[in-house]
Amino acid sequence: MSLSRQTSSSGKQRQHAAAAPANTAAALAAAGSSNNQDLASLFECPVCFDYALPPIMQCQSGHIVCQSCRQKLNLCPTCRGPLGNIRNLAMEKVASTVMFPCKYSNSGCPVTLLHTDKTDHEDICEHRPYCCPCPGASCKWQGSLEAVMNHLMQQHKSITTLQGNKKC
Ligand SMILES: [Zn+2]
Ligand SMILES: [Zn+2]
Ligand SMILES: [Zn+2]
Ligand SMILES: [Zn+2]
Repeated sequence: MSLSRQTSSSGKQRQHAAAAPANTAAALAAAGSSNNQDLASLFECPVCFDYALPPIMQCQSGHIVCQSCRQKLNLCPTCRGPLGNIRNLAMEKVASTVMFPCKYSNSGCPVTLLHTDKTDHEDICEHRPYCCPCPGASCKWQGSLEAVMNHLMQQHKSITTLQGNKKC
């Protein structure tokens, strides 16, 4: 049991292997100045890979999971232990010093911010995906601002021709 150190077979991103047990928080704080990017990755939710931000809840073994995933889970996704209502204040403290990348960094946003500023920025981030603006259409399309125009011209030339490429 205790030897199960190996990472998942696919091993996509090594830092996901360790889901930041609670008692690493102090170590994180100590390492704080060295590599912010690695630090931020320790807050990644093991389920959705979004960041688990304060209030950070942990399982009895100290694994963290983000708020939205937690609401859908009864057991810890890492150890299958019960998810109590245990807050991890140490991790929350560390979180308040870490610069997190904007959630749209994949779309090219270079910004990193404290988590307290993160949602404010993401609301106005120019790299955020736009939803299809067609009123009444049940189109689930999302994309960059530039792609919206393209999407409208291709898929909603006439609002009656909604069958067609289902990209999303
Ligand atoms: Zn999650
Ligand atoms: Zn756990
Ligand atoms: Zn951004
Ligand atoms: Zn659309």
